[in-house]
Amino acid sequence: MSKVHNFSAGPAILPASAIEASIQALQNFSGTGLSLIEVSHRSKEYEAVVTEATQLVKELLNLNDDYEVVFLQGGASLQFDMIPMNFLNEGKTAAYLNTGVWAKRAVKEAGFFGNVNVVASSEDKNYSYIPKDYVIPADAEYFHCTSNNTIYGTEMFEFPESPVPMICDMSSDIFSKPVDASKFAMIYAGAQKNMGPAGTTLAVIRKDLLATVTRKIPTMLDYRVHIENGSMYNTPSVFAIFVTMHTLRWIKSIGLEAMEIRNKEKADLLYAEIDRNSMFKGTVAVEDRSRMNVNFVLNDASLEDEFFKLCKSHNLSGLKGHRSVGGLRASMYNALELESVQALVNAMQEFEKSKA
Ligand SMILES: *Cc1c(COP(=O)(O)O)cnc(C)c1O
Repeated sequence: MSKVHNFSAGPAILPASAIEASIQALQNFSGTGLSLIEVSHRSKEYEAVVTEATQLVKELLNLNDDYEVVFLQGGASLQFDMIPMNFLNEGKTAAYLNTGVWAKRAVKEAGFFGNVNVVASSEDKNYSYIPKDYVIPADAEYFHCTSNNTIYGTEMFEFPESPVPMICDMSSDIFSKPVDASKFAMIYAGAQKNMGPAGTTLAVIRKDLLATVTRKIPTMLDYRVHIENGSMYNTPSVFAIFVTMHTLRWIKSIGLEAMEIRNKEKADLLYAEIDRNSMFKGTVAVEDRSRMNVNFVLNDASLEDEFFKLCKSHNLSGLKGHRSVGGLRASMYNALELESVQALVNAMQEFEKSKA
């Protein structure tokens, strides 16, 4: 079968080395003669996987001892609840930036635990930009933002100087570029966009944030329990953490500076074609264009099905926009190669010529 170019928004493309290691480990994990998914998570071979994955996160984010790293379950969506449950006292207020559906869901969940102050929102223009001038109140318990808006294709390239602890959902752009983690009190990410398969969620938490609420927290929803037990309070998502560990090894082998250059090159290539090609146009503010998810539309929407057919014949997969926005979306996470973006650009040029 010829190569399929995978532009899926998530679960999404992973490096070949992680897929190969997984195939191998499903048959014979770490020389045990047993499959990765049939050994105890308490075995020394598996504990080494969680330890290495945790260590790689610390290295890649350059974390000091003020931070804890845990792998959780329930997706990024459960973090929308765990964050206010652990950090927002009843009667107090948390500040949120509303830049898309995921951000809005985080706002909704925080409302179950305390007051929410939405400091700015781009919902008025269908989330096509990142609000810039807003004030984070100094008496908020924390400020929550979403670094990359997967559904709309906008990305924060700068973060505010927050007077309160800043918490960021980095699900879809984590490890796509260097970040100054010390600016954040917490970073979290569902693995299945840029870091691994679905089933595990990374949480990086500054210790001084813990034990700041007075409410009782159920055991499984208390960050301290997962931290104290090294992500092993209960059975972790064994397979997902294994693939994540291999993906992190691959990311480290490239390096975050080089990864950013790669991702910028891919994004520049596609945005330049969108801007040049008379058939297509971008949908978000130019300065906020995401390098991870590129949203665009055909000027004549009635040609969409025809273009998708052409994409299929070129082995270009996963380009349909999210059901809530339509159009096209090319997700170009770390593991997608430049040649795949070039294949998409070629198809766009062919389409334009066929209509000339
Ligand atoms: C996909 C996504 C989520 C939801 O992740 P789940 O793991 O499915 O809960 C949250 N935030 C962002 C930015 C996402 O891209």
